[in-house]
Amino acid sequence: MTLRRFYSALVLAALASPGAATAANFETPNFSVEAPTPELARKFGEMAEAYRKEKALDWLGHEMPQWPRKCPLQVQVSMGSAGGATTFTFGSDQGRPVVSSQRMEIRGDAKQLLYSVLPHEVTHTVLAHHFGRPVPRWADEGGSVLSENDEERFSHDVRCREILNAGRAFVLRTLFRMTEYPRDMTVLYAQGYSVTAYLVEKGGNGREGRGKLLQFLGGGMNGNTAESWNEAARKVYGFESIDALERAWLDALRTPPSRLVARGAAPGNDKPAATHASTAAATGTPRTELRTSAAPAMPLLEPPVRAVRGVAPANEPTRPAAAPTAPSYPPPVLGPPELPRTR
Ligand SMILES: [Zn+2]
Repeated sequence: MTLRRFYSALVLAALASPGAATAANFETPNFSVEAPTPELARKFGEMAEAYRKEKALDWLGHEMPQWPRKCPLQVQVSMGSAGGATTFTFGSDQGRPVVSSQRMEIRGDAKQLLYSVLPHEVTHTVLAHHFGRPVPRWADEGGSVLSENDEERFSHDVRCREILNAGRAFVLRTLFRMTEYPRDMTVLYAQGYSVTAYLVEKGGNGREGRGKLLQFLGGGMNGNTAESWNEAARKVYGFESIDALERAWLDALRTPPSRLVARGAAPGNDKPAATHASTAAATGTPRTELRTSAAPAMPLLEPPVRAVRGVAPANEPTRPAAAPTAPSYPPPVLGPPELPRTR
């Protein structure tokens, strides 16, 4: 396993920091859990198994077979923002692409870990096992955010609108083909989530919508060219191209924001958001992939996006290098967002 990127190093350093000592182990059929206390180790093990079942049913319609080797799950409970990392190595088994190893490390507030970070990370394992190779970044993170709790999904929705308003979004033709994380990962997560949620809804929601998204991804990944994505958009969703899909997605965001209004009392979220970042070793075989929520040392997504009754959040998530509290532009309007520059 080669974790050789800047982010990996930071994440690992943070995860290995003092005070990280763990005291208890708990084994489940698929996870080998290490946590500060026996109670926590058991709790996280049971929840990890429950999510593993639930997310596989959500996405694949069936449970995953027991993994040949247990996935190490290291849990560190601490104050402050929560994050996690899941690392995969991909290989092949009789010509079939498979996950050959995986491990998961999560750290932060226990409740946030249980209800936001853990389901997110477990969803990465479902997608990785389905494809047996790296999943397009936008969909891997977008699909995993889709597994998080309402608050997290809501704040990603808000963030995506801000990003669109600020003209920072990627055109989908670019986003879909990205195999590496962009410098501004906030955009990838928020936009990836928004497009993923739109496509799942477009595909009929629930298991059906997710199944269609997997088909779409399989088609687009096959070649990962503009044409493979266009063709997948035609075949699976009936759009003439990715550009047409993009227009429809933006139209959906522009239509009266019923989702936001419907949520009425939007989360007045005082807790730090689960921060998230990822990286991967790009080349070489077997390929190692790191799917990670940013460790506290690397606040990628701004702590709280405060949204009050569906109106503008108080400030904008900053970029990794920026001061955590500095809003970088005026609060956007949550109504119809302006179009990004899509040429
Ligand atoms: Zn992730």
